Amino acid sequence: MAQYADIILPLAQGTYTYATGGIESLEEGDAVAVQFGKNSVYTAIVARLHDEPPKRGSAKPLLAKLYHRPILHRQQLDLWRWIADYYMCTIGEVMRAALPSLIKPHAATHEEFEPYRPKVVRHLRLCCEISAEQLEHISQRAPRQAALIEEVMAAGGTLERSLTEASAATINATVKRGLIEIFEQEPSSSVDDVKVELLPQLSKAQLCVNEQIAEAFSTQKTVLLHGVTSSGKTEIYMHHIAEALSRGEDVLYLAPEISLTTQLVVRLRAVFGNRTVVYHSKLSPERRTQVYMECLRADAGQIIVGVRSALFLPLKRLGLVIVDEEHDASYKQSDTAPRYNGRDTALMLASLFGAKSILGSATPSVESYANTLSKKFAYVTLNERYGAATTPQIIISDTIRSAKRGERRLHFNKELTDRIAERLERNEQILLFQNRRGYSPYVECKECGWSPHCPSCNVTLTMHRQSNALRCHYCSHAINIPTVCPQCGANAIAPMGFGTERVEEEICRLFPTARTLRLDGDTATSDKAYREIIDTFARHDADILIGTQIIAKGLDFANVTLIGILNADNLLKMPDFRASERAWQTLIQVSGRCCRRDDIGEVVVQSADIQHPIFEILSEGDYTAMAASQLAERQLFNYPPYTRIIRITLQSEQPTTLAECSMALAQNLRRIFDSRVLGPVTPLIDKIRGEHRLEIVLKIENASSFSKARKLVAEQICEIEKSSQFRKVKLICDVDPL
Ligand SMILES: [Zn+2]
Ligand SMILES: [Zn+2]
Repeated sequence: MAQYADIILPLAQGTYTYATGGIESLEEGDAVAVQFGKNSVYTAIVARLHDEPPKRGSAKPLLAKLYHRPILHRQQLDLWRWIADYYMCTIGEVMRAALPSLIKPHAATHEEFEPYRPKVVRHLRLCCEISAEQLEHISQRAPRQAALIEEVMAAGGTLERSLTEASAATINATVKRGLIEIFEQEPSSSVDDVKVELLPQLSKAQLCVNEQIAEAFSTQKTVLLHGVTSSGKTEIYMHHIAEALSRGEDVLYLAPEISLTTQLVVRLRAVFGNRTVVYHSKLSPERRTQVYMECLRADAGQIIVGVRSALFLPLKRLGLVIVDEEHDASYKQSDTAPRYNGRDTALMLASLFGAKSILGSATPSVESYANTLSKKFAYVTLNERYGAATTPQIIISDTIRSAKRGERRLHFNKELTDRIAERLERNEQILLFQNRRGYSPYVECKECGWSPHCPSCNVTLTMHRQSNALRCHYCSHAINIPTVCPQCGANAIAPMGFGTERVEEEICRLFPTARTLRLDGDTATSDKAYREIIDTFARHDADILIGTQIIAKGLDFANVTLIGILNADNLLKMPDFRASERAWQTLIQVSGRCCRRDDIGEVVVQSADIQHPIFEILSEGDYTAMAASQLAERQLFNYPPYTRIIRITLQSEQPTTLAECSMALAQNLRRIFDSRVLGPVTPLIDKIRGEHRLEIVLKIENASSFSKARKLVAEQICEIEKSSQFRKVKLICDVDPL
């Protein structure tokens, strides 16, 4: 028996060594209760068992083992280690993200500490066969007991305790007689088996792709499936899922958004039944914990559908990973540690299991495409649309020319308004896309140029007309819209630029009879509100749906024949090396929502910069040309996939200390990394919630060891964190930032 255990705490800490203290049959992956600090008892995970006493001091004993078996398998523990190492965070932070909250309770004292106990439901069960004669006999002396027995018999021999009206006394008496017994069971959360459909039939093109993937899998682990919108990628995934299940393997199917998993799970359950389980952060803590524990108990052969956090579930025999919409930036967790990318981490998990992976997208990321060029991934394309679908026609509309000719009304070019009128006339539906919510991104005094900023963040306040407020989108600070300019007193404050709220207002002015709906962060405040808007539009109870990025993802409306992209310029003007790629992806994804029947779909893209090369590529739909031009640019300027980036963000309320600290760190890093260090630079938004920010960026070329680089960076950060003068500066590392 090992004497010591290295344990992981759910804190931003590394591992600690404890004495196993006579706890028997301890295994790696076990959850244990430990005293940490004076007033805290935590749930911890046993990461390693060994006999090496700690170098300093003595080891405290573990308090108790919590569950009768480990709550992680070896592969999950290895994944945690990899995430902590690769994404430069502590393994405690990984634990915090990976385990549902109820599994890891903590308390002030050991006495108060209560491990998670699943809710149980009490049942009554017959102990023996009871003949009609016996029953008759019982009913003469104890009619209530006989009635209860009859009730249990009628229910098939087992009855949930809460379903009978028999009193506790009657039940106890019947139990005492040895006729029935009480047992406890965890409520089964698995829904009724609704397996009603066969695997979908594949078209000729899909069959061909299916075979290509199978062939690629004979030599490679990962396939990038590049399939145009509505080419039927899901049907292909389903065939590979069926094969994995037939081999007794688990499947992990990731989608970028929770709303997409909801639709997906319905389709998968229809074919694969209740082995399909959905998991994401919007489930209740109780439900998340239940899914986790069931996953641990279940045999292999499960399909887990979820967003990035689903990859932490304790699967036993992962055989297939599917990452749909692999290009989507929501796979990356950016706001808190671990700042991991769900797609890349899922690929690592697959490799820990020796599983196969399919990455799917209509607009693959340039990085994944580059991986196909270097033969790291196999590349399979599906260009044919499913059924009779066609590509919508793309019209690039020049806002400057339109304004000069006097053909621009409010924020709409004639090319767009004419088509909107036509569609409304024909009783068809329209989608309008603007990637900004609110009424206008800022207001300005026409007399003196005054523009209100957030006091805690260095950003302008966004105008929200409905709520008559100017609001900060970073910290939610809000003020009323001033009627006169506080600087010059003029009555000249005007909204500048436009967001979805303003688009809706203008549409109502231009087309007063059109019924409009808006889908953005202000209206889709919950999953329910989101579904309501979508359903209303799908029922054609509205003619025009105006929305932000949310409408770009996965929605299909049969009656939408026109899509307007109101301002493509603010997609292209982002100060980021991925701006063109992102703009292209968004434009293609939004266009993909258009009806694909009968060649009637049209997409109007309004831009002041119609010479931008992206529009030529967009009209022709030439992905390879786009990817090639992006790759050439990135090679020239040393961007991923030719380098790897570590971005260090330094935050402090004190700008001088922050500047000094950043300079010191940059200098130290330059001694090691030389010209690979950029900065400190001021980020686009250099103050959020009262904290000033500076950034240092490291670009490590592919030929150098990235793991060594991370280690050296971590050492330098540690040095800075140790110095008392910079105590109040926060340092945050983001590896492969998006
Ligand atoms: Zn003014
Ligand atoms: Zn703010």
